[in-house]
Amino acid sequence: MALGSVFEILKIGVGPSSSHTLGPAQAGLHFRGLRPCWDGEQDLRLKVSLYGSLALTGKGHLTDVAVTAGLGGYDPEKTPGSPLRLFHETEERGFLTFPREARVSFSPSHDIVYDTEREDLLHPNTLRIDLFSQGTLIESGEYLSVGGGVLEGNRICLSSSRRGSAGLASMGEVMAVCEREEEDLVAFILEHERLVAGKEPFQVYARLQRLWEIMQESIHRGVSTRGVLPGELKLVRKAPELMSRFHKKIVEWKILSQVITLGSIYAIAVAEENASGARLVTAPTCGSAGVVPAVLKILEDRFHYSQERILQALLIAGLIGALVKHNASISGAEIGCQGEVGTASAMAAAAASFLLGGTLSQIESAAETALEHHLGLTCDPVKGLVQIPCIERNAVGAVTALNAANLSLLTSGKHRISFDTVVETMQQVGRDMNRKYKETALGGLATLYRSVGEDDPLGSA
Ligand code: SF4
Repeated sequence: MALGSVFEILKIGVGPSSSHTLGPAQAGLHFRGLRPCWDGEQDLRLKVSLYGSLALTGKGHLTDVAVTAGLGGYDPEKTPGSPLRLFHETEERGFLTFPREARVSFSPSHDIVYDTEREDLLHPNTLRIDLFSQGTLIESGEYLSVGGGVLEGNRICLSSSRRGSAGLASMGEVMAVCEREEEDLVAFILEHERLVAGKEPFQVYARLQRLWEIMQESIHRGVSTRGVLPGELKLVRKAPELMSRFHKKIVEWKILSQVITLGSIYAIAVAEENASGARLVTAPTCGSAGVVPAVLKILEDRFHYSQERILQALLIAGLIGALVKHNASISGAEIGCQGEVGTASAMAAAAASFLLGGTLSQIESAAETALEHHLGLTCDPVKGLVQIPCIERNAVGAVTALNAANLSLLTSGKHRISFDTVVETMQQVGRDMNRKYKETALGGLATLYRSVGEDDPLGSA
């Protein structure tokens, strides 16, 4: 299998977890669009079964909301706003309307089953949708949400083309081609997109432009929306207050640079938007969606790069994510958070190094440094919500990315461990990692969590 498109990594999605929300939403949307086998059928009823990590953390990750919304016709790409309203409406009235006005009984609280026992799973994020008529099964689909919102299934594969760019599969090979052809990384990726996705450069830029707008919107909404995040932790959003304190204390920031502080606030803002189920861009997943926009935005604020240069940085971030997805995984349920925030940090580091004038080797070195220091990072979200440790972790991932980019620029770019080696290592570590630490909420912070700071909504998690 060769390297896929960068747009398998950078997608418009809804939070809080791409594999737990965007994938299931698309599964629902796909299912309602199947050939209308329900034509003329009576007494239609739907059942959704969630397995593996989707069963263990699906409630906290809003998988029930996402799959219901998808079944109800909510398209994360096209439908503005949060899918929560559609979910509550469906629960209240007890049915969904499928195409051709078909009325299908469905009450999320009764008809979504969390099956933690099933063992014959091809992937830890599996869901099944069954449609019954008068009690008889007439249609079913099993979907695997394989990370970053990409969906595969026993009857479908919604992922975009898997054809490769001349069989390239590693950063080493990409660098070798760039050096041999004397081609810069941006030109290489544009050609790659033409080959794997049939997209001409103007289409790639148009798509990047849209993604960049949504990334910036999620920062803007995140730093201006106050309130409490959904879920039993009752976590108060802190990005707006941090921003207001940042502005008040701006002259006092003597040790930490403004770039690092503000970059962290931007990352928290997007991660909080994600935790509220809002629309954003997977980079590479929803849970880690704050890192890349935060780093790009803070560098844009500070250095006023042209729009084209920002979009090119996004393209490079996408390539790094695509390489990790191809050679390891970007799914917390498969390899822990190293695959999500670790990958996001590597994507942002490469993009930042590029923006700051890094050479090909320095860009690769930045990605390597950021990913290397996330190796072994577990996924153990408290109460199955994408809030603790996820929100702060986006800020730390963004700062690591900025640091890795800075370090790359101070060196020749030559280093002993390549990005490809770190990706391979991450895959190995992920394979060896205990299942408890792979988005199951069965170990780590998820089980040892004792709240000590609920009196201070702005205390760190
Ligand atoms: S800990 Fe990391 S991988 Fe797990 S849900 Fe949070 S952001 Fe995603």
